[in-house]
Amino acid sequence: MPTHVVILGAGFGGLELSSRLAEDLADEVEVTLIDKNDAFVFGFAKLDVMVGRRSLEEMRLPYRDMAKVNLTFRQETILSIDPMTRRVVTDGGVLEADILVVALGADLDPAATPGLVEGGFEFYSPEGAARTRDALESFQAGTILISVLGPFFKCPPAPIEAAFLLHDLFTRRGTRNAVEIHLLSPLPLPIPVSPETSAAIVGMLADRGITWWPQTLVTHLDPDAPLAHLADGRSLPYDLFLGIPVHRAPEVVLESGLAEDGWIPVDPATFATRFADVYAVGDVTSAPVPRAGVIAEGEARTVADVLVARLRGGDPPAPYAGDAVCYIEMGDDTVGRVDVNFLAGDSVTSAFTPPSLEVAAEKVEFGASRRTRWFGHPPA
Ligand SMILES: Cc1cc2nc3c(=O)[nH]c(=O)nc-3n(C[C@H](O)[C@H](O)[C@H](O)COP(=O)(O)OP(=O)(O)OC[C@H]3O[C@@H](n4cnc5c(N)ncnc54)[C@H](O)[C@@H]3O)c2cc1C
Repeated sequence: MPTHVVILGAGFGGLELSSRLAEDLADEVEVTLIDKNDAFVFGFAKLDVMVGRRSLEEMRLPYRDMAKVNLTFRQETILSIDPMTRRVVTDGGVLEADILVVALGADLDPAATPGLVEGGFEFYSPEGAARTRDALESFQAGTILISVLGPFFKCPPAPIEAAFLLHDLFTRRGTRNAVEIHLLSPLPLPIPVSPETSAAIVGMLADRGITWWPQTLVTHLDPDAPLAHLADGRSLPYDLFLGIPVHRAPEVVLESGLAEDGWIPVDPATFATRFADVYAVGDVTSAPVPRAGVIAEGEARTVADVLVARLRGGDPPAPYAGDAVCYIEMGDDTVGRVDVNFLAGDSVTSAFTPPSLEVAAEKVEFGASRRTRWFGHPPA
């Protein structure tokens, strides 16, 4: 009998793991992949949707296109997870797993910031990005605040990318002089792990007249004024507020007993949890790495190596190396790159490649290669 691997969540981590298991363990495992959505949308695609470069429909990659020999995809909402028995209840039935992998990502919690739901927008969900695009379409003049609202958030460069892309949008429209753009973050630097990248970003923000507010946290909005209130007692007026909401592990994870301090602790070498035959990868874990798709993908590859060694025999694989390539949209259609390693030594290493059209082409290839590997064909 093949081993039944149940993967919860078909995002970056779940898609990479199911692809690797189809390639490397097609005869040994049956994979069930579960997600509440019917399609995957890349994180970076939400920026394209927000500034109207592509429609949401164009950016959706339907799960029905995945054709893997040993894979069943179920579009269902996961209602409970018992990590002791590896029993999962969904709105479509009950699954018993031999090996369970939790890749449910991080949920957004806009309600955690009072006033945000009534008085602001977010572009971190596909629907939020589409609503922000509609608000930007009619925005002629005034002050835009882009504000990070919690300590952990997916893709640390994304708010910066949003600021550069808004600068370009209003420049193209000829209204840039009528729009003030402010970028607020509780972090001390745009990319704290890379002072070199941060220095380049701070310079480019200043060149474009975008005001950078480090170590600044908006605690609540007063939508009637409208004002954004800061943790230090000050307040800022705004006409359009784009918040990066507080992130949380999905409720079903918090209720399962898998999480400690809000996220799932894992062995950072193998991504095993403290429950037998239960692994977790990606944004839902408290692994000492940032929340990013490339990281979730690298972790998923490590779990695949661990399962190959377990099911085929052989030496345990090398631990997760902790390296990642991060692309940053920096305006004028250019993209910069940061090569980082979080686990190589005592401190994080990073190298910055300045923005160029060549790196932009590399980023396009990055997305295309994942579409091919996960969905079988790149859409036209
Ligand atoms: C604007 C933006 C730009 C980004 N740009 C980049 C970038 O350039 N590079 C990069 O590496 N990363 C980027 N990211 C971050 C990246 O998208 C995430 O870090 C990555 O998707 C995390 O992968 P994951 O597998 O952990 O979770 P996810 O990809 O979020 O997948 C989790 C899945 O679980 C499903 N799920 C959750 N709860 C349930 C439930 N109860 N039942 C069923 N299904 C459920 C969700 O529907 C989802 O599909 C960006 C993110 C954003 C928002």
